[in-house]
Amino acid sequence: MLGQMMNKPLLISSLIEHAQRYHAAGEIYSVKTGGGIEETSWGQVGANSRALASALTKLGLEPQARCGTIAWNNRRHLEIYFGVSGGGFVCHTINPRLFPEQLVYILNHAEDKVLFIDKTFVPLVAAIRDKLDHLEHVVLMEGKDDEAASQLPGLKFYDDLIESGDSAFVWPELDEATASSLCYTSGTTGNPKGVLYSHRSTVLHSFGINLADSIGIAAKDVVLPVVPMFHVNAWGAPYACAMVGARMVMPGPGLDGPSLVKLIDTYQVTLALGVPTIWLGLLNEASKSGSTLGSLKRTVVGGSACPPSMMTTFREKYGVETIHAWGMTEMSPVGSINQPLAKHMSLSEAEQHKLRENQGRPVYGVELEILDEAGNPVAHDGKTQGDLVTRGYWILDSYFRKTREETLTGDGWFDTGDVATMDADGYVTIRDRSKDIIKSGGEWISSVELENIAIAHPQLSDAAVIGARHEKWDERPILIAVKTEGQDPSEADVLAIFDDKIAKWQIPDRVVFTDSLPRNATGKVLKRDLREAFGEVLIAK
Ligand code: AMP
Repeated sequence: MLGQMMNKPLLISSLIEHAQRYHAAGEIYSVKTGGGIEETSWGQVGANSRALASALTKLGLEPQARCGTIAWNNRRHLEIYFGVSGGGFVCHTINPRLFPEQLVYILNHAEDKVLFIDKTFVPLVAAIRDKLDHLEHVVLMEGKDDEAASQLPGLKFYDDLIESGDSAFVWPELDEATASSLCYTSGTTGNPKGVLYSHRSTVLHSFGINLADSIGIAAKDVVLPVVPMFHVNAWGAPYACAMVGARMVMPGPGLDGPSLVKLIDTYQVTLALGVPTIWLGLLNEASKSGSTLGSLKRTVVGGSACPPSMMTTFREKYGVETIHAWGMTEMSPVGSINQPLAKHMSLSEAEQHKLRENQGRPVYGVELEILDEAGNPVAHDGKTQGDLVTRGYWILDSYFRKTREETLTGDGWFDTGDVATMDADGYVTIRDRSKDIIKSGGEWISSVELENIAIAHPQLSDAAVIGARHEKWDERPILIAVKTEGQDPSEADVLAIFDDKIAKWQIPDRVVFTDSLPRNATGKVLKRDLREAFGEVLIAK
């Protein structure tokens, strides 16, 4: 033996252990489900997560038992993240906005033994409780509550559970490959698929997030994760914040503009993470209320393409930098982040801003490649598009209860389902989901590109582009647009915004006005619904 370094497993418990030991006083502000705010600390969250792990162990749960959550972003949910995974169980976050049949499917497929719920979801769970075959304990994330108990016989209470546990519980030394958490993809077709994260993948992903060229959360940050904890672990923010002991503001159920602006201003939030629709609400409110969002320095935007016009507003009106990020549930989720290179510093400001618009470069730990139809890499010229594939330390190897063969390509890549280009520096531009890209007479048109232009129109508050069936061209783009309150642009007004910005043949054939766009629980426009509603408007009757 030549000598060697310690080989300590990478465990989620090490994140909370670090926060508890070195950032015990670090504040966590949490909006309560019933209203009002409570203040706690990393020290307390650490102690409570130990107590929870101990209480779950005492309940007799087997190692790896799945513990579901249907909950908002709050401090108890944070404790569950660390307590469940740290204790050797699997934290299974569930999206409350799924249809009841999908919830039943997911809970049974995962074989959840415990389900933690916020009070909001008592009726939802009461309505499906009989169909949950494996469930042994439902835990309300509150103190005792007789009214809730009357709807859910046998209901347990989180605060009792914590009291029954040992806050000095010693975290078990697990194998780092042990599963730690589970999240099902929203899947627009077929049954949702489970992505099972490991302790190792989660810790490495947290390092990835905290690189300076990534999101780079620091102890001095005040972080507002608006992205829900039921959506890919709130993009990993809770783990990454524990790793550095950042102050956290947990927004609870209110994700509307006024609630968010108030939280940012009251708690001097410096970094916020969320999807573009959330920021639309926030920007509207800031503009109405006159808030300058003075404390906010950075927003991380992902989940859907961030319209360049939104970045401009953040920058010019509020002095906020937008970090555009791309990823997916199967990638923990971070894949690429847009940060500049040294050589960009000598460019003009306008050029630098332009370069920040795409989805950025692969973070260390993630490999990205773009393949043509034959499976060969395309040129990294920023123009040639193909299927975006990935592999890396925190990328899915096989879906929960599926094989690797059913999950990966023959070459061991995970196919993201996105169509993209990459330039010589590795900057990726997402052109579309492969199923949404518009094929017009053999040419491809990116709906994302058209949407980015449309949304910049001051008289539109929302816009989506779909391919509508066309007798001659197979498909042509049409714009589905929502007018800004009090505005009444004509179709020609709206189409004029595309002049000189894109080739004539890419301009949408029609504009259809509608009251609102259908979106899923994570803010993505449901294009399939739009195609069903408007996909035939170009076909002569
Ligand atoms: P999900 O697994 O639900 O988080 O969805 C992942 C998908 O969201 C990706 O495959 C992309 O299609 C889309 N997506 C995520 N971030 C971005 C982004 N910054 N720009 C464009 N699309 C994005």
